[in-house]
Amino acid sequence: MTARILVVDDIPANVRLLEVRLLAEYFEVLTAGNGPDAIETCENGKVDVVLLDVMMPGMDGFEVCKRLKSDPATSHIPVVMITALDQVSDRVRGLEAGADDFLTKPVNDLQLMTRVKSLVRLKSLTDELRLRASTTRNIGIEELLSRNFATEDTKPKVLLIDERKSSIERVQKMLRGSAELDIATDPNAGFFQAAETPYECVLISTAFADFDALRLCSQLRSLDRTRFLPIILLAEEGEGGRIIRGLELGINDYLTRPIDQHELTARLRTQVRRKRYNDQLRASVTQTIEMAVTDGLTGLHNRRYLDSHLQTLFDRAVARRRPLSVMITDLDRFKSINDAHGHDGGDDVLREFARRLRKNVRGIDLACRFGGEEFVVVMPDTDGPIAEKVAERIRAEIAQVPFAIGTDGKTIEVTVSLGVSSVLKGADTVAALMKRADLALYEAKSGGRNRVVAKAA
Ligand code: GH3
Ligand code: MG
Ligand code: MG
Repeated sequence: MTARILVVDDIPANVRLLEVRLLAEYFEVLTAGNGPDAIETCENGKVDVVLLDVMMPGMDGFEVCKRLKSDPATSHIPVVMITALDQVSDRVRGLEAGADDFLTKPVNDLQLMTRVKSLVRLKSLTDELRLRASTTRNIGIEELLSRNFATEDTKPKVLLIDERKSSIERVQKMLRGSAELDIATDPNAGFFQAAETPYECVLISTAFADFDALRLCSQLRSLDRTRFLPIILLAEEGEGGRIIRGLELGINDYLTRPIDQHELTARLRTQVRRKRYNDQLRASVTQTIEMAVTDGLTGLHNRRYLDSHLQTLFDRAVARRRPLSVMITDLDRFKSINDAHGHDGGDDVLREFARRLRKNVRGIDLACRFGGEEFVVVMPDTDGPIAEKVAERIRAEIAQVPFAIGTDGKTIEVTVSLGVSSVLKGADTVAALMKRADLALYEAKSGGRNRVVAKAA
């Protein structure tokens, strides 16, 4: 895992110290001696994690962090604050400035590496999502972020898994007003509850009498539905080793008892904010992918989707020695429909045709708009004679019931020509299969239209 780490400290010796340790782990290291330089580097370069000294003359670390987190261009870069003292007040100020994590001077090597690596991992996930979202569609990440901030006020749904009554009550009191808190006292029940309910964060106590909390963490990380669910470990003093083990397993953060209310709410807020941001990115990527393979006018799959899936369906049919048929449809004299009723009238016909087409094929059939007024249906497990019957049924359904166009109840008669072909035993290819369907369609057109021609398999 290689990543670019920006080390910010006003004392060159401190910079050098961290730089050497990071270089030894094969990280790329950038450095800055003051706040404004750090911000500029983040804006220009590809920084994956910032290690930020708190005490600097001029602009201090809190201010640098606040500026980075409020600029959409840099707000996704994880920031680790390095404080001189292990003071809760500093941590709270840092978390309120949006810091993702803390390290205390002198920086412990193992903690440094574990935290940097875990943040780099998280960042690479976010980066991939950002990249996919911005390359497939011209989606404004900035707009996403501002939406994110708008939803920040809604209370997060949080699950606490803990068996000690006093500790449960304390956390309940601390989060009253800032989170919607559910409790699970049994770790196994808690695991299922976390998997079944859309929580935004789960707090896991390490203090079970006879259960290892880390096992629960690793179970949550290995389950698809909870893979991205933030986990905050509530650890006991002196459990440093366990915490590091937890960070390696993928927990997102931890608190050491006695728990400070400000720190708990601030850390929770950071985790929830990051999860919401990533969830929105993921949703927009999914939506983008859907848009990329869907025809906007009819809602059917588009040609790009057909091109990517026909080969798979074909290979599967051949491998299983199952039949597979394709049907190409082309509306008759569609140009004259456009000419007589306008482009919008033509679009109405296309939408209605797509609706009838979908209604007359099975769910496992792949119906696509091939382009213009041509559609393709791929029918797995369907031999030639059956495909021909399906095509005939569609032809009849189109010809028999006139199409409504516009809003004033006008209807017109529409007909369609269809070509059908099926996978041949022996050597056959997708291209040849499509070519035969196309030839069949051509025959249907030249034979007088409003008919089905099937190429015998
Ligand atoms: P044939 O019976 O031989 O298929 O005649 P045709 O007029 O249907 O043939 P042709 O393929 O030449 O014309 C198809 C027309 O479909 C031309 C094009 O303007 C129109 N068309 C393509 N896409 C759309 C669309 O999205 N909406 C509308 N309204 N018309 C479209
Ligand atoms: Mg055509
Ligand atoms: Mg046509």
